[in-house]
Amino acid sequence: MTKSKRLFFSWPHILLTALLLVIIGVIVWLFSSSHPQNDVYENTSLAMGTYVQQTIYGNNVDQAAEDAAQAVSDLEDRISWRKEDSDVAKINANAGKDWITIDSQTAGLLEQCLDVARQSGGAFDPTILPLSSLWDFGGENQHLPEDQEIQRFLPYVDYENLRVDTENDSASLKNSMYALDLGAAGKGAACDAVVASYEASGVSCGIVAVGGSVGTYGQKPDRSDWTIAIRNPFQNLSEESNVSMGTLSLSGGFVSTSGMYEKYFEEGGKLYHHILDPKTGYPVENGLASVTVVCDQGALSDMLSTACFVLGAEESQDLLAHYHAQAVFIYQDKRVFITEGLRSRVSITAEGYTLLDSLS
Ligand code: ADP
Ligand code: MG
Repeated sequence: MTKSKRLFFSWPHILLTALLLVIIGVIVWLFSSSHPQNDVYENTSLAMGTYVQQTIYGNNVDQAAEDAAQAVSDLEDRISWRKEDSDVAKINANAGKDWITIDSQTAGLLEQCLDVARQSGGAFDPTILPLSSLWDFGGENQHLPEDQEIQRFLPYVDYENLRVDTENDSASLKNSMYALDLGAAGKGAACDAVVASYEASGVSCGIVAVGGSVGTYGQKPDRSDWTIAIRNPFQNLSEESNVSMGTLSLSGGFVSTSGMYEKYFEEGGKLYHHILDPKTGYPVENGLASVTVVCDQGALSDMLSTACFVLGAEESQDLLAHYHAQAVFIYQDKRVFITEGLRSRVSITAEGYTLLDSLS
């Protein structure tokens, strides 16, 4: 007894206890500094055939990231034509037959698709599936179709065939040959879903990238702007190593880019990319390499980036003004046109680009 008592108060013992307390203190400090109130948390997951990259600030950020990733998967389950039980697959399977009851968010998205299709004169057309599945960009069967096949399916791309009833949350395609493909809207819609999820989680702020679409929520803790890289459209297509050609500095909003580099193949020395002109059935060839659109909604920015790519810079100006959107057009010869409201917010960091003052 006396021996153990002596041991307990011995100097080595006191030193050891002090050392232990210091170690515990350091561990607690390390742990709390990795989860403080306004910590930045990064998370990457996979959905919609691409990466979902989140950066969130605030409390319970790991749970918030998990909830947001789930919101993207749920959206994909509703709008992917490839998922058997999705709203879109059911509408496609019942084309020419019945109205289908769908989730109210799907109905809202389809309504927005119709609006952009109308405003863009069909440059963006959600009924592109007969053509997009024929080309199958990025799929196992991607190939240059016979012109005769393209001409056969071309009449079955027409957004006027889609009917949406947002009061009763239902939709239908009038004729059986028509089918929906929301590939040009899905990633932007995913950014909307993530931002709504952040709001529900109560995080302070965050930024998410789903493939070529980006969504921001709130303001950064230090009140500085969000910095978003503008993809170098030539990186995939050539030997260029720069991933980005510049940056966009924004206080908020959503950004989507459509580029010829995203999905393409070469045949007979010619490049065929995945943005199709619904009027010809062929990939758009108007000298553009990419279009980046900034506006206040994710799905809208995604639809507009596709529509503006199809229309070309001049023809896009009224459409952009209608939706209070801004854009960066990058041509294949590296000329760049930036709409006025965005000029002070773009910084071109790569070499070889020429900034255009006007479109004339
Ligand atoms: P990404 O898929 O890289 O985000 P887009 O947003 O431009 O690029 O979407 C391109 C996809 O949208 C294509 O893979 C195809 O599924 C579909 N698509 C192609 N052309 C059009 C078009 N004119 N209108 C609507 N959807 C289109
Ligand atoms: Mg798009």
